[in-house]
Amino acid sequence: GATIGILGGGQLGRMLAVAAARLGFRTHIFEPGATPPAGDVAHALTTAGYDDVDALTAFAKSVDIVTFEFENIPTDALDVIENITPIRPNREALRTSQDRLVEKQFLEGLGLTVAPFADIANAADLDAAMTTIGAPSILKTRRFGYDGKGQSRLRSADDAAGALADMAGNPAVLEGFVNFTAEVSVIAARSPSGEVACFDPGENVHRDGILHTTTVPARLSAAQRMDAVLLAAKILNALDYVGVLGVELFVTRQGFIVNEIAPRVHNSGHWTQNGCAVDQFEQHIRAVAGWPLGDGSRYADVVMENLIGDDMDRVPELAKQRDTALHLYGKADVKPGRKMGHVNIVKRPS
Ligand code: ATP
Ligand code: MG
Ligand code: MG
Repeated sequence: GATIGILGGGQLGRMLAVAAARLGFRTHIFEPGATPPAGDVAHALTTAGYDDVDALTAFAKSVDIVTFEFENIPTDALDVIENITPIRPNREALRTSQDRLVEKQFLEGLGLTVAPFADIANAADLDAAMTTIGAPSILKTRRFGYDGKGQSRLRSADDAAGALADMAGNPAVLEGFVNFTAEVSVIAARSPSGEVACFDPGENVHRDGILHTTTVPARLSAAQRMDAVLLAAKILNALDYVGVLGVELFVTRQGFIVNEIAPRVHNSGHWTQNGCAVDQFEQHIRAVAGWPLGDGSRYADVVMENLIGDDMDRVPELAKQRDTALHLYGKADVKPGRKMGHVNIVKRPS
């Protein structure tokens, strides 16, 4: 059988490897960390740095296709791999989503709405942006931010200097604060032949910058649901995308504002594991392997809740709950803010 290479060995890589194994594939994880959660479930594991050309070469030669579970893979490493083995989703999708500025320009170019934004390289840029965008707003690093890290909120213009200092010289974007009524996301998939399938949008609640719950169905009208799905399809087609993509949206009275996109399986898509015949992980593997996309229609109402840090103390109780599916990532050390697992609480559709 074919072997799928996965860059990144976190929980997303782990769940991708499980899905791949279920379809009869072998998996090979590449991850610089010492004991990655995906390591225990994959057929092969390479723990080397992204600057180790020999390790990257051997990895690429051992697999038939390469995919990834996170977007911040160094360009040089991707060059080494792509000389040997195809990467799905493609490099353009990665390049676009690695940088918030490039991503927002791309989305705007598609005619989609994003929050007002400005490129911030220095204090003069921020001064200028304070007159156009002003406060409240959020200064975000262009690259490497996740779970709300690398962000600083400006309640008033007085916060500008401090926020800029928080960026520690890294290029940033200033974003106008969006007064959303809700946050939703669309988990969308596209196959090499251009077939597109979207999961039902989920409604997301964040706590301390980290996703807390995703609920399906989201409180959206039929028209909004259609809008969300068409918007996601537009992004997939524009990128000639292959695989699963997460699209985070703010719901406002004026319509959807795109917050960000993630070129991979997404935390807000974990509900699909217990709400659909084919979940986001299998869908991604199907797409990158060139299989037909699976049936992702929703057959249950689901609340997904992340288990973060000390939430792990609740596992013995959660394990007794009916209608609750536990998904634990096998991470040895519990740390505050660390994603340790999630539960899917499942109900028949209302
Ligand atoms: P992720 O883990 O989803 O990649 P991230 O670090 O990239 O997170 P964002 O998605 O940009 O961060 O922001 C995290 C959360 O902060 C959003 O889901 C939203 O709740 C809030 N937020 C971000 N930008 C804005 C904005 N412009 N206006 C209002 N709220 C915002
Ligand atoms: Mg993000
Ligand atoms: Mg986000």
